[in-house]
Amino acid sequence: MTKSKPVIVVGAGPVGLCLTLALAQAEVSVTLIETRSDENFLDQVPRAGSNHPATLELFDRIGLYDKLEPRGIIAPKFHYWDRQEGTLIAEFDHGLLKNDTKFPFVLQCERIKIIEEALKMAKAHPLVDVRMSTALTGFEQNADGVVAHVTNAADELESIDGSYIVSCEGARSIVRKDLGIEFEGFTYPERTLNIEVAYDFAKHGYTDRNYISDPLEYSNLFHWKGPPERWRIHFPTDPNEDEAVLTRPEAMQARLKGFLPKDGDYEICGCNLYAVHQRVAKTFRLGRGILAGDSAHVNSPIGGMGLNSGVHDAFNLADKLACILHGESDESELDRYDRQRRHVAVKHTQAQTMRNKRLLEERDPAVRKRNHDELRRSAEDPVLARKFLLRTSLFESLREAEQIS
Ligand SMILES: Cc1cc2nc3c(=O)[nH]c(=O)nc-3n(C[C@H](O)[C@H](O)[C@H](O)COP(=O)(O)OP(=O)(O)OC[C@H]3O[C@@H](n4cnc5c(N)ncnc54)[C@H](O)[C@@H]3O)c2cc1C
Repeated sequence: MTKSKPVIVVGAGPVGLCLTLALAQAEVSVTLIETRSDENFLDQVPRAGSNHPATLELFDRIGLYDKLEPRGIIAPKFHYWDRQEGTLIAEFDHGLLKNDTKFPFVLQCERIKIIEEALKMAKAHPLVDVRMSTALTGFEQNADGVVAHVTNAADELESIDGSYIVSCEGARSIVRKDLGIEFEGFTYPERTLNIEVAYDFAKHGYTDRNYISDPLEYSNLFHWKGPPERWRIHFPTDPNEDEAVLTRPEAMQARLKGFLPKDGDYEICGCNLYAVHQRVAKTFRLGRGILAGDSAHVNSPIGGMGLNSGVHDAFNLADKLACILHGESDESELDRYDRQRRHVAVKHTQAQTMRNKRLLEERDPAVRKRNHDELRRSAEDPVLARKFLLRTSLFESLREAEQIS
């Protein structure tokens, strides 16, 4: 075990928890700070939950996969639909990756289930000190380490010593702001409305993950394991419309029935509205302050890449920090983390999620036709389909990052 001061990980989201577990399992002690309490930890709005094959391999490495599989849906296939025509454009099957990975499927398992299971594991690990109800307010660093300033569970100001501080606080990262790192990019004017419905869309030919193109109202439709068994549908919304108006039960019923007409009302289990940003921090590291996950990059959820690429940051960083703290490499490895993961954020996650959105909302009929023909061609040719899947399941970005020295 390393004798150095613990790594301070801020935020028990999926990224902070994976980083914590990977570090602890590499014999590095961790202080994990989370502002939420045990009582309200699971009281969070539905967010990400499509876990790609490359991410499942990483969950497996820390013993998390086995806890998630029974709580999720194994989804080997995904669909592209044309809502205007009411037709299936293309079906992709991860089964084509059976020689590439032990996990030739996506696991539909919501963020809340991931953090619930991972937090239990973190609390049970002797090298992890989990500090719930503790909010980071700022930090300082010098040549030997960092001091995190927090408000603790007793509502007192406290200072916590560490070797490094890693911000896994999400998009509003205090560490990023304290370090003065710019969060470059933009925010789309329209917000996304998520509606969760207890209704079996599979009866109408949909698979567990569906991307639905429509020049007027594109959407995504995903299946989640119960209880209650649910499907989540995303719609873009008018930027000038109030949240109260968009989430009125009659307004949501009208959208759902516009998508798929039905006698009687849909059973709506929940909804939320959120702003979609495309931003990447100018650097992922300044001295002993490091960014990972949403604190380093945020993107549209189309393609399910935010949580996944954040988890990839966590594992990349854990390996490097462990080597540094065990005296096997020097701090220049942290600059390599920045080069590798920033490259993925800009060239893969940002580029792909923006392309995904353009594909679904395309208005020009000729471009729509060309896009749909290309999807069909890719799905029908096993060589092209495998290439497509290696990209969407994030193996390509991991392999490319590995080549960056
Ligand atoms: C409303 C919403 C809906 C989304 N929907 C989707 C989706 O459908 N598909 C998709 O792929 N992605 C979606 N995302 C993005 C996805 O949820 C994130 O990419 C993913 O959760 C990032 O994980 P993270 O661990 O970096 O940060 P988070 O999951 O945001 O976790 C951050 C953690 O840090 C804690 N924290 C924050 N500040 C402090 C502090 N000062 N001190 C201590 N702790 C702190 C928070 O309480 C939280 O537990 C959505 C995001 C939002 C906000």
